[in-house]
Amino acid sequence: KPHLSSSTMASQDPVNPSHAAFDLFVQAPTCKDVKHQFAELCKQLDVNPREFRTFYIKVKERLNYWRAKALWTKLDKRASHADYQQGKACTKNKCLVLGAGPCGLRTAIELALLGAQVVVLEKRESFTRNNVLHLWPFTICDLRGLGAKKFYGKFCTGSLDHISIRQLQLVLLKVSLLLGVEVHTGVEFRGLIEPSGENGWMAELQPAAHPAASFQFDVFISAGGGRFVPDEESCAIGITANFINRNTAAEAHVAEISGVARIYNQKFFQDLLTETGIDLENIVYYKDDTHYFVMTAKKKSLLKQGVIKQDSGDAEELLAPANVDSEALNRYAHDAAHFSTGGLLPDLQFAKNPNGEPDVAMFDFTCMHRAENASLVRERRGRKLLMGLVGDCLVEPFWPLGTGIARGFMASFDTAWMVRSWGMGVPHLKVLAERESIYQLLSQTTPENTSKNYTGYSINPKTRTRGSTCPPSTPARCSTFTTWINPN
Ligand code: FAD
Repeated sequence: KPHLSSSTMASQDPVNPSHAAFDLFVQAPTCKDVKHQFAELCKQLDVNPREFRTFYIKVKERLNYWRAKALWTKLDKRASHADYQQGKACTKNKCLVLGAGPCGLRTAIELALLGAQVVVLEKRESFTRNNVLHLWPFTICDLRGLGAKKFYGKFCTGSLDHISIRQLQLVLLKVSLLLGVEVHTGVEFRGLIEPSGENGWMAELQPAAHPAASFQFDVFISAGGGRFVPDEESCAIGITANFINRNTAAEAHVAEISGVARIYNQKFFQDLLTETGIDLENIVYYKDDTHYFVMTAKKKSLLKQGVIKQDSGDAEELLAPANVDSEALNRYAHDAAHFSTGGLLPDLQFAKNPNGEPDVAMFDFTCMHRAENASLVRERRGRKLLMGLVGDCLVEPFWPLGTGIARGFMASFDTAWMVRSWGMGVPHLKVLAERESIYQLLSQTTPENTSKNYTGYSINPKTRTRGSTCPPSTPARCSTFTTWINPN
């Protein structure tokens, strides 16, 4: 068989195996599938993803296919931003990212664009969260710029401004892999191992013999998600419920509810309480892969409706499976969904979670913790490690307003900016001081007080604030940080 170079291959040929492999990769609907189709694509193109520095360039060269080219145009545009210095800003840096949630993956992409070697560790084997994230306009613009629509055709069509966590993770995973990020699933981070002998900073993993255990790094980013801190006084309880979306005309007509805060619609919540005994602070409904509801319920009403069996001051005890009547919880979530959509959703049937049970969850959600610091440098035996927090483990999300992803992505950009300074040799105290002063602004960020020039957003914080000044530097403090990321 004569050898055909990629440029002589018919670029529109539908049976070209590398084109077919690309299509399968782009459309892969599960995490496992993405990894499998990615390996197939690499095989077809004879490229080694471990050669991260040249990987994307080689894939691009070897895949002369119009569908792929449309994606390269997007990614090239992003990669050509001056901030990345042609992918050379962080060529000496090796970054370990804990967690392949949306914020971990979003950060990994930025670090790869800066030219760093990036390894992501994820303890779960699959992406299963149907829950839906509200997206601020800048996140929609950002994700479009990464080719989200090429991977997920339904992405934010029309006035849609949300996406399921699962779909978002899939999009970001695919982009990460194409940019040469190494993503390992089914491996849990247990703690940091200090440098010794020839070795630099490494991670203790479960399973211990995992190949990533030998990775040595100088940047560690924790994107491990939220942590709950019991706080009886302010305890409000979140419930999420997913119902099957059959995409019928009747379902299409039912209006979404985006953040009906109690103070704005007293009558709705009063009627709900009178008619059903359900007492909510707020409720959100999005139509996505599923009919998705998230609500904040008053503890008292959950006790009264028999959802929670015994009251307790300890959030963990309160919501322990043995203390929850799941039938009553399902009824509560169902009735709230039914009432708030005016009974217009016909045949509300729960979607199933990965265990085959109704996809309903309850958790303590006002009580999440805000980290005191966003960054830290540790030094042992002359080796420095830059550490940063992003996503829910940095700042607690308020889901009805979509702050989880919006502030999460902002923190990803800010963190990438910090790593950029680190890579470019800025003294570490200066790097930390800048990161902490930017962090002080994060929890006040709203769609109103950020720049409307979304296409101008970059990892440079100045591109995202209104006016173009950053706050004055404040000295970095280092108190509670290590217990967050090094639980052992
Ligand atoms: P996550 O999405 O939580 O990702 C963290 C990842 O890190 C996970 O995949 C986890 O498996 C992994 N991980 C954790 N520890 C380790 C470890 N030691 N080793 C390896 N991997 C690890 N937001 C909404 O807008 N609407 C909702 O309805 C909603 N529901 C939620 C329900 C729950 C139970 C939780 C926890 C969060 C919910 N959120 C919701 C918040 C939303 O999921 C986050 O804001 C968003 O996913 C961004 O989070 P992240 O990437 O920071 O963390």
